[in-house]
Amino acid sequence: MGFSIDLLPAKADNYIYLVSDVALGLAMVVDPSDANIVEEALYKKDLQLALILNTHHHSDHIAGNNKLQRDYGAPIIGPAKEKTMIENLSRGVEDGDVITFSDLRGHVIETPGHTSGSISYYFPDIKALFCGDTLFSLGCGRVFEGTAAQLWYSLLKLRALPDDTQIYAGHEYTAHNMPFALMLDSENAVLRDRANEVLRLREKGLPTLPVSLAKEKATNPFLRVDEPAFQKILAGAGLPTDADAAALFGALRMAKDRFKG
Ligand code: ZN
Ligand code: FE
Repeated sequence: MGFSIDLLPAKADNYIYLVSDVALGLAMVVDPSDANIVEEALYKKDLQLALILNTHHHSDHIAGNNKLQRDYGAPIIGPAKEKTMIENLSRGVEDGDVITFSDLRGHVIETPGHTSGSISYYFPDIKALFCGDTLFSLGCGRVFEGTAAQLWYSLLKLRALPDDTQIYAGHEYTAHNMPFALMLDSENAVLRDRANEVLRLREKGLPTLPVSLAKEKATNPFLRVDEPAFQKILAGAGLPTDADAAALFGALRMAKDRFKG
């Protein structure tokens, strides 16, 4: 199978992901915040757009939908629960639904918390997870519509995917997230390596994504609140010691919101 995934930087720090079947000359786009950027990439690579995917209704993930649909006639797939908030949605999908692009199958995972209808798409054949603003490298989305507990259970679903899953998140936030992660866990050798890698990449203006789930499980504080050893570290940073994982996650999310790195 000849598939490629391009990261198209858009707006201040968004990524639009373009997945293409090179042999067929077909592409699928995830969270097109800007139609012109997508059309330029399609033109350069001589691709037809076959499908538009949205992870959630925020405008920095859907703003290019209508123009792309008009110009290419591509259907728009997005969360059924956000049907009223995404114009011209062709198909609303729910947890467990499977979508297809070329001979790829994408599994829909409901991951509420950032918005109450947020979904992620997992494509096992190319080991790719498109998770919008639910999971970032070294961080996670802000809780805008759902609850912190909801977001925690959503992250648990993503954490259960295979370790070699590549995470394609909606924003380049890694360098922003890094000081908080390092403040908590400066002795973590995997995190220190990742921090050096992130600095090197950002100096060259290169993306820090995708990143493997294995690396995130070892470095992302928001994926680790149920680890006893990490709970000791959190207690040392003044977080509650008697809370269950979901409550501890909520406290950590609040601490991050207050943190001035
Ligand atoms: Zn968002
Ligand atoms: Fe966003």
